[in-house]
Amino acid sequence: MRQIRSVTVLGAGTMGAQIAAHLANAGVPSLLLDLTPDVARAGLERASKLKPDPFFTPEARRLVSTGGFDDGLPRIGDSDWIVEAIVERLDVKQALFEKVERYRRPGSLVSSNTSGIPIGAIGAGRTDDFRRHFLGTHFFNPPRYLRLVEIIPTTDTDPSVVDAMARFADRTLGKGVVIAKDTPNFIANHVGLHGVMRVFDALSTGRYSIEEIDAITGPALGRPNSATFRTLDIAGLDVLAHVTRNLAERLDSQEDRHAFALPPLVEELVTRGWVGEKAGQGFYKKVQQEGKRVILALDPATLEYRPQRNVQLGSIEAGKSIEDTGERIKTLFLGRDKVGEFLRETLGPVLLYTARVAPDIAHAIDDVDRAMRWGFGWELGPFETWDAIGVREVLDACGVSDPPPLVRDLLASGKTKFRDGDRGPGSTGLRLVPPSGPDLQILRSAKERSTIVKRNAGASLVDLGDGVLCVEFHSKANALGGDAIEMLRAGVQEASANFQALVVGNDAVNFSAGANLMLLLLEAQEGNWDEIDLMVRLFQGATMGLRYADVPVVVAPAGLTLGGGCEVALHGDRVQIAAETYMGLVEVGVGLIPAGGGTKEMLVRAMAHAPKGADPLPFVQRAFETIGFAKVSMSGADAFRIGYLREVDAVTMNRERLIADAKAVALDRVREGFRRPAPRTSVPVGGETVLAALKMGVHLAHRAGRISDHDRLIGQKLGWILAGGSLPHAAEVSEQYLLDLEREAFLTLCGERKTQERIAYTLKTGKTLRN
Ligand code: NAD
Repeated sequence: MRQIRSVTVLGAGTMGAQIAAHLANAGVPSLLLDLTPDVARAGLERASKLKPDPFFTPEARRLVSTGGFDDGLPRIGDSDWIVEAIVERLDVKQALFEKVERYRRPGSLVSSNTSGIPIGAIGAGRTDDFRRHFLGTHFFNPPRYLRLVEIIPTTDTDPSVVDAMARFADRTLGKGVVIAKDTPNFIANHVGLHGVMRVFDALSTGRYSIEEIDAITGPALGRPNSATFRTLDIAGLDVLAHVTRNLAERLDSQEDRHAFALPPLVEELVTRGWVGEKAGQGFYKKVQQEGKRVILALDPATLEYRPQRNVQLGSIEAGKSIEDTGERIKTLFLGRDKVGEFLRETLGPVLLYTARVAPDIAHAIDDVDRAMRWGFGWELGPFETWDAIGVREVLDACGVSDPPPLVRDLLASGKTKFRDGDRGPGSTGLRLVPPSGPDLQILRSAKERSTIVKRNAGASLVDLGDGVLCVEFHSKANALGGDAIEMLRAGVQEASANFQALVVGNDAVNFSAGANLMLLLLEAQEGNWDEIDLMVRLFQGATMGLRYADVPVVVAPAGLTLGGGCEVALHGDRVQIAAETYMGLVEVGVGLIPAGGGTKEMLVRAMAHAPKGADPLPFVQRAFETIGFAKVSMSGADAFRIGYLREVDAVTMNRERLIADAKAVALDRVREGFRRPAPRTSVPVGGETVLAALKMGVHLAHRAGRISDHDRLIGQKLGWILAGGSLPHAAEVSEQYLLDLEREAFLTLCGERKTQERIAYTLKTGKTLRN
C-alpha cells in the first residue's frame, strides 16, 4: 500500500502554509516552497500567528521546513505527495507542474488545492505517470478546523491513487473525505454559492435587512452563528467575487451562469475596498463609540452604516424552543410569515438547484449533504433538508410543477423521502447513500442495531460488539450529574460481569463540560452539606471504579473535556483522545478544586516523575500550576504537553473513528493480559516544607496583585491537598487519604459566598468570574 511519509507543499500563502501546519499536526514532515525562501518563511510565520492556531502545539512547527522553488523543486524526489496551493491561475499552475514533473519521483502523488479550475485541465500535457497520480485535493479554510476535503479524480487518475489519498486524508489528517466529480467548483462551494446568490436576490428586493437575514440563516437553520453576512465578511468579499466569477464563467448553460451573476452590491463593495473584516468593514463595521466597541450594519440601499436594528421575527423566537433542527426548518419554511416567505424564495431554489445538479457533481446524495455539513458547518445538508420538510411539501410550497428528474424519479417510485432505505443507484445514476466504512461512528451503528444494555436520562450502556461495552453520556453539554455517575458505576459492574473491556466515550461535540454545576449550586445555597458530601463520594467512587475495574477501561474524550470530564479521563487505563480536544481541570474558575480524584491523580503522577530522594517541590509545583491556572489543552496533542495524558495514551485524528480506535485499544489491552492495577497505598507527599513553599508562592502572587483574595484561598486549599494535608513532614499516604483531603477542601469552598457567585456567573454566562 502507498504510504505518505513526507510531503512537499507548493505555495506558502493562506492555504499552503496551513496545510503544512496540519500535516505537522499529524506528525508528517513537509517542505513548504514558494517563489523565494523569504516568501515561504514569511508565509509560515504568518500562519503561526493566526488565531485560532493552525498548529496543535508550538513544537509541531519544527516539522515544516521552507525554501524557494529554485532550490526546493530539485529536492521533491523524496516526497510521497506534492500538493500545490499557489495562485488560482491555470497557466501559472500548469507551468509549475511542468517543473514538478521534471523532479518528482515516478509513482509519487501530485495534487492541486484549486477551488475551481478543472483538475483535468491542470494536468493536461503531463506524462502518463503524472496524470495517473494526479488529482484534486480541495481543503477548506482553515484546514485544521474545517473537516471537509474534496478529492477530485480526473478520468486519468488511477483508482488506487484515489484510495490512498482518501485514506491518508481520513485517517492521518482526520478529515471528512468526499469524492467529487471534476466539475466547476466541485460540490460544497457550488451549492454554497448558489445559496449565497439567492440570499442576495432576496436582499435586493429591499424587504429584508442584513440583520434579519443573519437572524434567519444562522442557528435557526442549524447553521453557524456567523450566518450569511458575517461569514462573508470573514471570508472576504473579494474572495467571494473571485470565486463566483470563476464559477459563472465555467458553467455550461446560460441560465446557470445567470444564476451566479455577481450582485451589483458586491461589485460596489469590492470597488470601494469594503471587503470585510480584513478591511475593517463589509456588511458590518466595528467602530469605537464612547469608548465602547459597537458593530454597525450596512444599509444596502444607501451604503451607509447604521446602528444594528433589533430583529423582530416571531417565528425565529418561537423556533428556539424546537430542539430538532429538521422540525424547526420545516416549521420556518412552511410558515405563513416573512421568514417563511424568505426561505421559500431562497432555500427553496437552493434545494431545487441542488437536486438538479447533484447527478453531475456528486456520486451520492449523501456526499452532497456531507460536503455541506463538513465544509459549511450546516447541521443538515440539502437532501436532509428536503427530507425534513418533506419532498412534496417543498414542491407545493414553492409552486413547482416541473421538478428536476431526481425528484420526479423519487416521487414516481412512491417514496416521499430521499433517505428511504434504498441504497442502490436510481435512474440518474446517483447513489443515495454510499456504503459507509466499518470503523466510522461505531457507537451510532451499535445503537441502530439496538444494543443498548441499560439507559437513564444522563447516560447509556451500549454493547459495541466483540465483548466491549461503552458508557455513553447524553445529557445537555454532557454535564455529569447523578445519572451519568450511576451509569459509570453500572458500566464497570456490567463490563466486569459480562464483557471484556469498557470504553467511556460518545459521539457528541463535547465529551463532557464537567460536573452538573446547577445541582451543586442549589445544594450549596441550601447548605445541604451532607448531600454535597455524598455527591463527591459517589463521583470519587465512580472514577476510582474506572481505575480499579477488573477490565481495561479506555476513555475517549473529544471537544470540551473539562472539570469532572477531565477527571474521568484521568482515571482510564488508557486514553484515546480526539485530535480536537480541549481538556482541563478548570474547577478553580468556579471557585473549587478538582475533587473527583483529579487533584489526587495529578499529584500521584507528579510524584511518579520525581526521582527517589529528589526534592519533590518542583514536581508538585507543576501539578499545582496545572490545576491552579486551570490549564486547558488547545488540542489533544497539547494535553500530553500539559501532563493530562501519559506516553501510553494516543490520539485519533478523525473524530468519527474515535470510538472504534478506543475499542481497538481496549481489545489490545485484553490481549496483552490486562491485570487490574494494585491500589496505591504509598504515595509520597512533601508535608510541611512543600506546603510552606506553595503557600509562599500564593502569597507572593497575591501581594503582586496577580490573584484575588478568593484565588488566594483556593490556592491555599489546593496547596494543602498537594502537600498531603497537615502532615508535619514528608510521608507516604494512600489514595483514599488524598481523596478525603479533596473532599474536605471542596466542601469548605462550596460554603464560600464567592465560590457560589463564581458558579452562578459561569452558569449564566459560560464565562469565568474573577472575584
Ligand atoms: P494566497 O494568495 O494566499 O497564496 C498563493 C501563493 O502563491 C502565495 O504565497 C504566492 O507567493 C504564490 N504565487 C504567486 N504567484 C506565483 C507564481 N507565479 N508562481 C508560483 N507561486 C506564486 O492564495 P491561497 O488563498 O492560499 O490559495 C491557494 C490555492 O488554494 C488557490 O488555488 C485557491 O483557489 C485555493 N483555495 C483557497 C482557499 C481559501 O480560502 N483561501 C480555500 C480553498 C482553496
